[in-house]
Amino acid sequence: MVGSDESPLLENNLSRKGKPSKSRSALVSHSSVSLLGALFVLAIFQFQMDGFKGILVDIQFRLHFWKSPHPAIALIAYDDASFPRYGESNKIPSEEIVKVFERLAEEKPKAVALIAPLNEKLYSNAELTAIAQSFNKVPNTLVGYIDDESLARSAPTQIAGVATYLPGFISRDNFSYGADSVSRRVMITIDAIPTVYSELARIYRGLDTLPSFRHTHGYGETGNSLQTYIHWQGPPGTYRIHPSELVVKQKLPSGIFTDKIVFFGSRLETRRVADFVLTPYSRNPTRTPLLEGAAHGLVTLLEDNAVFRSPAWFNAFLSLLIAIVTVNMVLFLSPGRGILFVISEIGVLFVTAWLGLVLLHCWVDLAHPFVVACFGYYLVIPYRLVDEYRKRWHYQEKSEMMTQLEQLKTNFLSLISHDLKTPIARIQGNAELLMNESQEIGEKAKKYLAAIVHTTEDLGHYVETILDLTRIESAGVPLQKTSKDINASILEVVDSRRFLAAEKNITLTTDLEPMFSFKFDPKLIKRVLGNLLENAIKYSGENRKIILTSREEVNWIRITVQDEGIGIPFEEHDKIFTKFYRCDNDFTKKNNGTGLGLYLVKYFVELHRGMVDLKSEVGRGSTFTISLPV
Ligand code: ADP
Repeated sequence: MVGSDESPLLENNLSRKGKPSKSRSALVSHSSVSLLGALFVLAIFQFQMDGFKGILVDIQFRLHFWKSPHPAIALIAYDDASFPRYGESNKIPSEEIVKVFERLAEEKPKAVALIAPLNEKLYSNAELTAIAQSFNKVPNTLVGYIDDESLARSAPTQIAGVATYLPGFISRDNFSYGADSVSRRVMITIDAIPTVYSELARIYRGLDTLPSFRHTHGYGETGNSLQTYIHWQGPPGTYRIHPSELVVKQKLPSGIFTDKIVFFGSRLETRRVADFVLTPYSRNPTRTPLLEGAAHGLVTLLEDNAVFRSPAWFNAFLSLLIAIVTVNMVLFLSPGRGILFVISEIGVLFVTAWLGLVLLHCWVDLAHPFVVACFGYYLVIPYRLVDEYRKRWHYQEKSEMMTQLEQLKTNFLSLISHDLKTPIARIQGNAELLMNESQEIGEKAKKYLAAIVHTTEDLGHYVETILDLTRIESAGVPLQKTSKDINASILEVVDSRRFLAAEKNITLTTDLEPMFSFKFDPKLIKRVLGNLLENAIKYSGENRKIILTSREEVNWIRITVQDEGIGIPFEEHDKIFTKFYRCDNDFTKKNNGTGLGLYLVKYFVELHRGMVDLKSEVGRGSTFTISLPV
């Protein structure tokens, strides 16, 4: 029998074969896989992964959907679809600029910034003079040039006295500094020149000099430029853009520009890409007008709530932590659970980083930890394979040993049973001879001889049962079917057990339906019925009834053995058919038994492709039904 408990002998045997102790091998696996994880982090950090970092932070921005536009900002755009065009230039007509500024002068805004190229190449002297005159009417006028040619050059003479001429680039991310050209930074100074945005923040705060902002960082080789990360407040359309045409024609409610910072630029319906920016919300190159980008950049400086990036040491530490946790967890979880763990780990990391961004304005690098978490899983696979092989090898050895043990046991049992059978038969035969043939021995001796015969019969029965078991477990029992009337077999079994029933004054009756012969193994079926009938007698009190019935149903022959005995508790109905199982009650203690009878009954019936069924209630008796296919 293959048991679940390992014998101490077997354990010793296995440990002698060099199986490492479990905790030591686990420790070695943990530390070596952690070291591998750390090396992996080192390798991963050789890659910048700027694009991936950008995508991840953009998703976090997009999930921050409850921000509202800043009330101090208003946007006006020149829409060239409704005006005559000026060739390929994105020049706003001078007369449009003049008209808008004249109209704005009436509204008294806090400051107006024209975000457009304004230089002598685009405008004639007369045009510049007209524009300068209109600028004069607005107190704080700024010109933010967005062409590189104007950078660090002084304003056209006409403009110089009436407007502050400064760079109007939001960021330089669309040049060589951002892998994906998405504007994530707002420039504060470029080559030591303040940008329109920092200058507007100064005006807004009423300061004389440029304020200092938190979380700024240098940019460019000279280090003379400063920038900071934009705290984006929403997708394109967050800020309403008023068409300049409506401003000029006074079709907007009055006072909407009063005390506001007004950006005036172009939103070309002809979709000139230079007048748009890529944002965390949209990578469509003509989706977010430059003016909206300008508003978001300015608000970051007005509120001084720039996003800052987590320090490099923190990113490295986080990745290392993720690597060690992932590889160690995945090493000892089932593959399915390992994947689930990695997914939840990534989820928790993302939500935490997102909270860090929206609450603390901190941008944590998620790209490296994510890659480490995902690939950490694959890193562990070779380790797991080695581990699996080791376990399999161990189990294979164990199972081979078990099979050998089982074989030994079967051989031993069969040997013993065979050698026992002959002497038992001899004792029984001689005792019977002596009892029947000798006239000289007295009654007392006859009684003892009868006891010897009875006991040897019991012994013979046990040996037969054990032999059956060994046969089943080694080669199997051959089925020798012959066509026979099963009722005849039932009657033979009943007759041979009448004396047993009579000892307890039990009435044995049969109710057999006449039926045609069918093919079955009479020897085995008689063993089955004999076992059931003997049990019915063994586990019934005195003066009870036992009835055997046979019925023919469609394709099935059903034989029942019904007693009025002690019955079997429901929870033991399955167990009694297992090897060596005996119920724990007074009757089993009083009656000898091996616990093999019903196991063999089930085995022999199933050999016929039949079924055994039990209905029993404690104290009310049991009914065993065997069904044999015709
Ligand atoms: P054994 O009779 O040798 O103990 P069996 O395998 O024949 O082994 O039966 C297993 C157990 O099932 C018995 O020990 C007994 O407790 C219970 N049992 C079997 N038949 C009956 C029955 N007719 N009535 C009550 N209990 C029974």
